[in-house]
Amino acid sequence: MIRHRDVEQLQQLSQAPGQTLTVYLDIDQTNPANRRRQFETRLKDLLKQLKAAHRDDKELAATCSEVEEITKSIKPSGRTLVLARHRKLGVTFRNVIRIAMPSGVYWTNGAFLRPLLEALDENERFGIVLVDQKRARLLTVFMGEIEEHKDLVSQIPPRPESPSADKLRSQPRMQRRHDESVSSHVKFVAREFGKLMEQLEVDRLIVGGNVGVASELAGALPKRLRGRLVEVLPIPVAATPEEILTRAGGVQTRLERAEELEVVREILKEVRRGGRAVAGLSATLEAINEGRVWKLVYLQGLKLEGGVCNTCNMLFDPADERCPVCTRKLEREPHMVDRMARTVLERGGHVDMVHGPAAEALRAVAEVAALMHS
Ligand SMILES: [Zn+2]
Repeated sequence: MIRHRDVEQLQQLSQAPGQTLTVYLDIDQTNPANRRRQFETRLKDLLKQLKAAHRDDKELAATCSEVEEITKSIKPSGRTLVLARHRKLGVTFRNVIRIAMPSGVYWTNGAFLRPLLEALDENERFGIVLVDQKRARLLTVFMGEIEEHKDLVSQIPPRPESPSADKLRSQPRMQRRHDESVSSHVKFVAREFGKLMEQLEVDRLIVGGNVGVASELAGALPKRLRGRLVEVLPIPVAATPEEILTRAGGVQTRLERAEELEVVREILKEVRRGGRAVAGLSATLEAINEGRVWKLVYLQGLKLEGGVCNTCNMLFDPADERCPVCTRKLEREPHMVDRMARTVLERGGHVDMVHGPAAEALRAVAEVAALMHS
């Protein structure tokens, strides 16, 4: 889990003078290619390429060995390993995060954190409030992890049972007392959790539990929070954090897919009218080489081969033999998608891997596409 102090340590590393090696490595165990620690081999290959691009850099060679050694002790409990090592300062940052990012290694003055910072920035923090007549829980989900913040139990007079004849007269009064207490419980929860959610910087809100009480709570929330409400879901108030994470994850995924679809549609519209977007490998590589890509999009899980000129730092079609600029023989790149992502990121662009309906829309035209600076 990325915590505030991690980000602080990273920021220090990004400003530290001297070279830092930053690694983003796909270690997702749902991908068979990463099982039996094969991600260590993938890292070795990436570092080999990097060393080839910085021949005779002894500092890099030594840092690479250290990073390979550190990676051997990493437990693949998430999707991406983020590692930054500054050898001279003896500082290492390592974290396994639960979101997917393209693999890449960077040898730069100060750690290369933009991909991570963007992921932190783009990932919305979800607040989940579960309520019933007397209980209320507040949890947050961020970067695929769930955290419980508060569990409130109010003192509510019992709901009247089916009345016996002698109690029949007091029934309406007891019912009213119960309803009033539930209302004051809801108001109390709205107030308490409202404050807390502002502090926790919740971007989106899901309310669940007893649907009647949850809807009442949704109406009682401060206006600012009501605007962030996504859904009222019938999640049981006693659900386990794992169950809640799954339900919230479903909502989050749906929102993200909708955003991806919008991006892909915009790109395809631009491609159709010959505007500021290109589709297909050749056109996209050309745009990357020219440094014109603002956002690269590609199908999730896409595998492409290509050619690379390490002298010119340019990327080419797999059919090309020689660099058209310096005429040197091109190096084969079996992980072209990661390489394209890395180049775009290094040049200040953004990267979006798309799934579901967005992937379907993109696939109808091409496997990769790019939106360019105007
Ligand atoms: Zn070249």
